[in-house]
Amino acid sequence: MSPVTKERTRYLVLVAIDLSKKLSVLIMAMSIMSLAGYFYNVGFLYRPAEDQVATHPYTAIQAFLIALCIVLNRPGRRQHIKWILAVSLLLSLSWLADEILGSKILYTIIPFTEIALSEHNAGKINHVGINTFITFLLIWFSVAMKAFNYNLGSQSAAFAALSFPSLSLFGYAYTIAPFHGEMSLLSTATLLLLSCAALWSTANHGVVRAILSPYIGGQIARFQFATGCIFAFFLGYLVVKSIASIQYSGVVGAYAVAVCWLIIILVTISAALFERSDKIRRRMENQLANSARTDPLTGLMNRRAFNEVLKYEAGRTNRYGTKAVLILMDIDHFKGVNDTYGHPAGDEVLKTMAATIRDNIRDTDSACRFGGEEFAILLSDTSPEDGLTVSHALRKVIEETDIVPSPEQSIKVTASFGLTQLAENRIEEALIRADKALYQSKERGRNRVSVHVLATSRHNVYCRRSNQVVRQLAF
Ligand code: GH3
Ligand code: MG
Ligand code: MG
Repeated sequence: MSPVTKERTRYLVLVAIDLSKKLSVLIMAMSIMSLAGYFYNVGFLYRPAEDQVATHPYTAIQAFLIALCIVLNRPGRRQHIKWILAVSLLLSLSWLADEILGSKILYTIIPFTEIALSEHNAGKINHVGINTFITFLLIWFSVAMKAFNYNLGSQSAAFAALSFPSLSLFGYAYTIAPFHGEMSLLSTATLLLLSCAALWSTANHGVVRAILSPYIGGQIARFQFATGCIFAFFLGYLVVKSIASIQYSGVVGAYAVAVCWLIIILVTISAALFERSDKIRRRMENQLANSARTDPLTGLMNRRAFNEVLKYEAGRTNRYGTKAVLILMDIDHFKGVNDTYGHPAGDEVLKTMAATIRDNIRDTDSACRFGGEEFAILLSDTSPEDGLTVSHALRKVIEETDIVPSPEQSIKVTASFGLTQLAENRIEEALIRADKALYQSKERGRNRVSVHVLATSRHNVYCRRSNQVVRQLAF
């Protein structure tokens, strides 16, 4: 996969991971705000409306701890996360003991619990319900599994956790009290955001990755997800508010919740399956596109692909005034190599030449097999003088390389070079100049570099061997 394609594939995933951390910071702020409400005795900070359910200090502290784990989630912080999760688990077990055995552990270890208890006893609901407890436990599992790299398990737990606050949200939207029970609106929002943060922290895996895919499967999934859920939610709302009688509103609400979750499950499963098959198709398409651009023997670009690179580079030189050098290189007396050592040995020589070229140019430069035993090289952002140095270095390496196609064969070859600059968006002319320079090198005895640069007033041909200028001609 090319770096650009990889970036494209990862874009939404990176956004989601980033968002998961930002949401966690927001949740921590919300939790501190609720606790501050208890500390300063400002009721609306943990109970936004007098007649509504309050956020219990347990909920605020648990949300803070788990959000902190998501913010800290980096390999080096695993030890910290372990400790925070241990404290969070202790709080959950305390809640369980208090509920089942009637002990008063939370009362002892969690600050402001006495305020919550006295409010609750006075009839203003301020209690941690079973839904809140289970949601925290599921998010706890999600974060713990993520910390130990069980990403798919983490994702499943986060998905399951999401169902409780979303049910509560329906309860508030449809005014069906049993749906939200003792989960306050603030806690609902906190748990909803916390489940999303846990879910998105695994965005580069599993179904979340499939839904966030920039390809057709992801696009369809996101569309279905949004339209399906919004439609079911509003249709349910209309039915509950207008048609359903009071006694049936709960049934209709439950039906809308079930439809929403069915849509979520179906969309995620189909997105994951679609993404899997689409990935195989994309990989095959990439392979096909690559093979259409690659010379099968040497693995270098073929001429067609090189022409595209040339066009792009010529455009750049024309637009931004950058310098680029075009080199044509031809193996000397290659026919003789084939005749003496055989065609397979000749192929081996071509492969070695390709590897030598690749090793002696920069990653930003390009090389192609131009024809039989002829190669073309494009040096980006390079002056003719620097191009000459590169060509000489390459010529020397080739001259000194021992090619060993088989244990009993050792072949030495030389190559001739023709160099010119790529200028003014005229590719054909540059190729003609490079070819003329190459011809000069052949004419003057091979194994040398000739330069045919385009001067403003005249064309110059330098014919060099080693680093010494042998001859300069005016055209
Ligand atoms: P010069 O120094 O003038 O370039 O002479 P040369 O022998 O290299 O040039 P010529 O054009 O006469 O011969 C090129 C040879 O390259 C002929 C052809 O059989 C051989 N050739 C072209 N493609 C391949 C290939 O893929 N594999 C092998 N082994 N040989 C090839
Ligand atoms: Mg040749
Ligand atoms: Mg040739």
